[in-house]
Amino acid sequence: MRVAIAGGGIIGCAIAYFLQSAGASVTLIERGEIGGEASGAAAGLLIPPAAAVAPGPFRDLCLASLDLYPGVIAAVQAESGIDAECLASGILVLAESPELVQPLRAHARRQDASGRPTDWVDGAALRLLEPALSRRVLGAAYSPDEKHVNPGLLTQAFARAAQRRGAELRVGGALTGFLGRGPQVRGVSTANGDVPADAVVLAAGPWTGALGARLGAGFRTPPMRGQMIAYRSAAIRHAVWGEDGYLVPKARGFLFAGATVEDVGFRKTATARGIAGLRRMAAGLVPALRHAEVASTWAGLRPGSPDGWPVIGRLPGRDNVYVATGHFRNGILLAPITGKLVSELVLEGRSDPLLAAFGPERFG
Ligand SMILES: Cc1cc2nc3c(=O)[nH]c(=O)nc-3n(C[C@H](O)[C@H](O)[C@H](O)COP(=O)(O)OP(=O)(O)OC[C@H]3O[C@@H](n4cnc5c(N)ncnc54)[C@H](O)[C@@H]3O)c2cc1C
Repeated sequence: MRVAIAGGGIIGCAIAYFLQSAGASVTLIERGEIGGEASGAAAGLLIPPAAAVAPGPFRDLCLASLDLYPGVIAAVQAESGIDAECLASGILVLAESPELVQPLRAHARRQDASGRPTDWVDGAALRLLEPALSRRVLGAAYSPDEKHVNPGLLTQAFARAAQRRGAELRVGGALTGFLGRGPQVRGVSTANGDVPADAVVLAAGPWTGALGARLGAGFRTPPMRGQMIAYRSAAIRHAVWGEDGYLVPKARGFLFAGATVEDVGFRKTATARGIAGLRRMAAGLVPALRHAEVASTWAGLRPGSPDGWPVIGRLPGRDNVYVATGHFRNGILLAPITGKLVSELVLEGRSDPLLAAFGPERFG
């Protein structure tokens, strides 16, 4: 089966990898660079967010993706020759105020119940783990096994591995339209010519809503800006998550501080105000960062959705057009499960129960 995919972010590239591996003949169309948008701008944390603590479909999706990660990352790194800098730094979710101590202790117990080891640490034990943390931090839920990646490199690894398996990467020209009429699309037109296809997957991040609208889909995928700082600092060894942001120790002596969440349209610029807020947050958690060198600052546009949850499934009214977007703050974490399940949906027509809550038909 010939499949055209719009979008060379981590979602499009993961789908390309799984589809090509399962026997499809993939053409991936990226108007800019592979990983050139949110997927290259992210922190790369592979950590289910607070929203995933409560049992439910989102938690199930996050945990299923985490289960896939070790095998998938090993495979795409080996096949692509790209090291995605996966680091098992662990994470400390911090109680900065007394009201957070009890909920985080309870969170540590609940996480235990799900089989992901998490302990409550405070006092000397916490200072031993992270001596540079501010004295005002009262304690933390500590998950020693949590990991993060270099998301831009992982996106490239997915793309290169798919290419090595035979996928065609068409970079530098946008998908501009759809071929055919009625429920069956026959392919897509691009800035570099037509691409005939038996199925089309729209994975164009926050630009997906506009592409879907041309086929009559009515859901929005609003961009949610996130700003970030890279310090040159080895002040901490663990990722830390505070009330107003997070810090992540990365490879090659960098430490990321992020991130704002702003609904400001397609304006992908870091602002003086946003960066000042992140610097305050970072120095509040780790005072030594007040004097650390800022290596760079940037912003990316996360793909949102009307209800904040991913949008994954077949487009209503179309037999062979699929959508995979709306991953908001969790697209790096959710890339493997999205790639696998969209591949099964396109090739086998099988919609996994994990996707039941996330179909585009929920928007009418
Ligand atoms: C600051 C920040 C921190 C983040 N931290 C994390 C984190 O720690 N963990 C986590 O899991 N997630 C994180 N995220 C979220 C994550 O980055 C996103 O959910 C994910 O990258 C979305 O991937 P995507 O492929 O859907 O979108 P994108 O990366 O936006 O890719 C979409 C691609 O489609 C292309 N495109 C658009 N229109 C067309 C067209 N017409 N034709 C061809 N190509 C087109 C674009 O050029 C783009 O490359 C973070 C995001 C930001 C901004």
